[in-house]
Amino acid sequence: MSDILVFCESAVGSIKGSARELLGKARELADGDDVTAVVFGDADTSGLGAWGADKVVTVQHDSLKHYNPVAYASALQQVVEDESPDVVLGSASVLGKDLLPRAAALCEASCASDVTDLREGDDGIEAVRPMYSGKCVATVSIDSDPKFFSVRANSFVLGDVEAGDGDVEEFDADLDDDSGYEVFEIIASGDDKVELTEASRIISGGRALGSEEKFAIFDEPARLMGAAIGASRAAVDAGYCPHNMQVGQTGKTVNPNLYIACGISGAIQHLAGMRTSKVIVAVNKDADAPIFQHATYGIVGDLFEVVPMLTSELEKVMTD
Ligand SMILES: Cc1cc2nc3c(=O)[nH]c(=O)nc-3n(C[C@H](O)[C@H](O)[C@H](O)COP(=O)(O)OP(=O)(O)OC[C@H]3O[C@@H](n4cnc5c(N)ncnc54)[C@H](O)[C@@H]3O)c2cc1C
Repeated sequence: MSDILVFCESAVGSIKGSARELLGKARELADGDDVTAVVFGDADTSGLGAWGADKVVTVQHDSLKHYNPVAYASALQQVVEDESPDVVLGSASVLGKDLLPRAAALCEASCASDVTDLREGDDGIEAVRPMYSGKCVATVSIDSDPKFFSVRANSFVLGDVEAGDGDVEEFDADLDDDSGYEVFEIIASGDDKVELTEASRIISGGRALGSEEKFAIFDEPARLMGAAIGASRAAVDAGYCPHNMQVGQTGKTVNPNLYIACGISGAIQHLAGMRTSKVIVAVNKDADAPIFQHATYGIVGDLFEVVPMLTSELEKVMTD
């Protein structure tokens, strides 16, 4: 049993889906103790009670309008010290992986980043964390109070959650207007496609695509599946797609329920970014491609034949 505080990220006035996953898991782990959501800025918090939050702490300040590492970490430290939770959870997003260790340091506590499971251990809540590019997993226990964990998206199945009251309390954080950082502008990626690191389905292409134009073969199946589109580094380096689509050691780490790798050989650096995917489907015309050793389902074939077949089957399913 633990009191758990969940940092809920928001974007353009909405709480991100990762908060739902974290609150659901927090509800389960709290086992009757308190689950508190903390939200910075003016996002709509009305659904957080239904997702399991007993209480929602909101913090409003000019310095919290955009992500500012110093202001955010200080505000989170102040909320943590006020609430005294046993555990602090946040998403292992780009923001979360920066914020949680900073706030933990300010609270003189420890943080395990990018964990993929949380469970009750002998010394309170412990985590499972992939290491060495996902080649092994470690069980991590933290002996500080509180314990901070950032959790990789899609680590937990969304199920029925016992709703909390979701009572909203405003917290007045004491923040310095001059933190030394100034965020002038946040430039969105320019499209409304599903963000890779949060996607529960991803279809990715590699060098085999051959051109930027041919990457459009993924647009329709991605739309039908509500999937994000990813790429290998070879495809990015060849200029077929931008770097923000790269999956792997020097790209993004993803953890979807379904990862479809098309014309990707399965190099260790690519696997480093997607090997924790729940179901991996590989499409490759070389039956000996290393990706097949990691795939749940393998299709030996030409992606330019297989992907249109997949698209046409998806269309049938969607129109049924
Ligand atoms: C320090 C470092 C960091 C790196 N970081 C990353 C990273 O973050 N992400 C990453 O992806 N890579 C990374 N790499 C590169 C990595 O080592 C591989 O070179 C890269 O992943 C290969 O991309 P690929 O699978 O698309 O290309 P290839 O290895 O060339 O594989 C192409 C595959 O397509 C198949 N194929 C060809 N035509 C078809 C077709 N018509 N239909 C179906 N299959 C077809 C081939 O059989 C082959 O298996 C890194 C490398 C280094 C050294």
